[in-house]
Amino acid sequence: MSEWQAEKAERNQRSLARLCRALPIVFPPTVLARALARPFIPPTPRLAIESYWRAHPLRADRLARALAAKTGLPTGWTWRTSQNRKTGLPATFRAPPAPYRERAYNLGGGFCCVCGQAVFKLGWHRDLWNVGPNKNAVWHSACVTAWQFWNAPNLQTPILRRLQGRRCGQTGGRLWKDAEVDHRVPLFQVWRDHRNEGWPKLLSYWGLPNLQVINRDVHVAKCASEARHRASGDTVHIRLTKKLG
Ligand SMILES: [Zn+2]
Repeated sequence: MSEWQAEKAERNQRSLARLCRALPIVFPPTVLARALARPFIPPTPRLAIESYWRAHPLRADRLARALAAKTGLPTGWTWRTSQNRKTGLPATFRAPPAPYRERAYNLGGGFCCVCGQAVFKLGWHRDLWNVGPNKNAVWHSACVTAWQFWNAPNLQTPILRRLQGRRCGQTGGRLWKDAEVDHRVPLFQVWRDHRNEGWPKLLSYWGLPNLQVINRDVHVAKCASEARHRASGDTVHIRLTKKLG
């Protein structure tokens, strides 16, 4: 065994001992199985859960949207943006709408600011321990991963490529190395045409249902065509406003 391997084995032994000491009697078995199979075992139950969700961003995306559907839309909420950070409103339409992150609709400790459901021990979304919500937590571990995925889906290009059988989502041709993640319905169009579809349905425009990996040249052409479309829409809009004004 090389020096590095010996070091790794020793480190894993220490991590395993720490993990076993801190592990609650009830713990999601799939998370534990994954933790024990890692090249480097996560040394705490919380890290095991975080590492599990990080490895399953699509599952996290689906779960976060399902949890949000259970909560539903707060009365009076509409999708708005603001440059004032204190409001908690997103600065641009590129960020996913999240009513429960907004100051006016915040549910406080024990509730997830992404989906609005109760957060339990270790950031889990179900009360496996029968101890009620964790009042100090405002994020589900799954929702942290979903949020990151919605805001930077390009970081998950390898998973999305595999899911598409390494075929371009637009042309069906082979995906090249420089392929990029694209929103099928571009976000400016979501803001312009789908704004009133309601929450959490809107979130699906940031999640897997609206994502595809396409080759770079196809992406460039798609963006150019969208920009032309957008510009002509804006021109019409300006003309109309002038006319109405
Ligand atoms: Zn959540």
